[in-house]
Amino acid sequence: MDDQPGKIRCDACPVLCYIREGMLGACDRYANRGGVLTRVDPHVLLDRTSSRGGEMVPFLPTSQDWDGRILREPRTFVTAIGAGTTYPDYKPAPFIVSAEVDGVDMVTVVTEGIFSYCGLKVKIDTDRHLGDERAAVRVDGEQVGHVTTAEYGSQMLSLGGVRHLTGGSKKEGRVTCETMLSLANGHPVEAVVDGGASIVIAAGKAPVINGHVEERMRVGCGSATIGMFARQWLGLVDEVVVVDDHITGVLSEHQAGKFLGVRDTGIKMKGHRSTPGRYFKVAHPGTGWGGTDLTDPLSILKPFDPREAWPGLRMLMVSTTGEHYTYYELDETLTPVEKNLPPALQLSVERIRENCEPALCSVLFMAGAGGSLRAGVTENPVRLTQSVKQTSTRVTAGGAPCYVWPGGGITYMVDVTTLPANAFGSVPTPALVAPIEFTMPQDAYAAMGGHMDQIRPVKDVVAGQGKVWIKTQ
Ligand code: SF4
Repeated sequence: MDDQPGKIRCDACPVLCYIREGMLGACDRYANRGGVLTRVDPHVLLDRTSSRGGEMVPFLPTSQDWDGRILREPRTFVTAIGAGTTYPDYKPAPFIVSAEVDGVDMVTVVTEGIFSYCGLKVKIDTDRHLGDERAAVRVDGEQVGHVTTAEYGSQMLSLGGVRHLTGGSKKEGRVTCETMLSLANGHPVEAVVDGGASIVIAAGKAPVINGHVEERMRVGCGSATIGMFARQWLGLVDEVVVVDDHITGVLSEHQAGKFLGVRDTGIKMKGHRSTPGRYFKVAHPGTGWGGTDLTDPLSILKPFDPREAWPGLRMLMVSTTGEHYTYYELDETLTPVEKNLPPALQLSVERIRENCEPALCSVLFMAGAGGSLRAGVTENPVRLTQSVKQTSTRVTAGGAPCYVWPGGGITYMVDVTTLPANAFGSVPTPALVAPIEFTMPQDAYAAMGGHMDQIRPVKDVVAGQGKVWIKTQ
């Protein structure tokens, strides 16, 4: 459209920008170049065969999660990154590409989806307390998400989503969109949890919690740590307490200690005893020992029972990462006295550390592609959904494999680190723009009511200008 002199109108999203010659639209994705609406970022193609010109970076192995069913991937894969968007969606997707794979004619439908319904699931490998479940997560003072259910060795955040994008103030929507865009493209974002920690999050990088770089995730909960290492402590120490915010383990009472014949020590713990040798709530959550607020581990012990304890009893207290540890021996009054860690025990502490994997931030982009976007693929949108559910159609994002949720719609998740750099964009509606590709056999595409007259052979697409090749293994 051109209903303002000297300007062209971009119709690739609901904003419908008028763009002057030489200028960019509001999203920086489209420009007016010589009166032609132009997608400014290069279109990314994956080369799974050999080196070609242009930028070459390592990428995903072919068919990394190949499920053995109908679909294989073309050697030249046309991604949606830089492909452009069609809006409104009844128009066919920007690229509908045919290629022969192992004698089967395949079609890949390629578009940059505009997602108002999208969010990030963020896993932060730490046992430190980041904030209470449901506590608000803020960036620039705006709520962009919340703390959700913790997982094993990791704290989880749920960020973005349609309510923060569109249901609050304009600033909340803008900050939420910027936060998601930065994280999806692998850039760092500093977030603050109400009543909790400040965290610098970047996909694939170590989290920075209250200014402290988190190097290791815990080896397991306190009880699991006892189970893993009990045999290695035998004969070297009489008691071991593994301090953990969730389950603190006590060797002499734990089933592992019982099996190995560890003698009762008369130790008395604070907190709630769950099962033998497993204690909940020995302290409050925090950023000290084992994700608790402890700085002095002895504060979780009551006096030893004099009927069982003995002077000289050797006790190791250690956190689930091996980051904190102290060795004690009981004196004549059965009071623990701190001593140097014997060299023989040093190895077991080091082994706990060695078994702690590097702590990382993992960011999964999650969005719903089960809406109007489907009309760019087929005239009968539900057939696309059915085909995805039957795994006749494979869903990828910038060539990266996606997990598609069961149930209704096409709700998918993808690890943002598996996409090429800067694969995501945004528009000021506000919404995120994410690449999505649907690949299926050509006869299945015809059967679902696909836009057959729009299919272009891959060689024609490859011949176009403004492409970037990414070599994959
Ligand atoms: S925001 Fe971007 S995609 Fe939307 S109309 Fe403007 S230039 Fe086009």
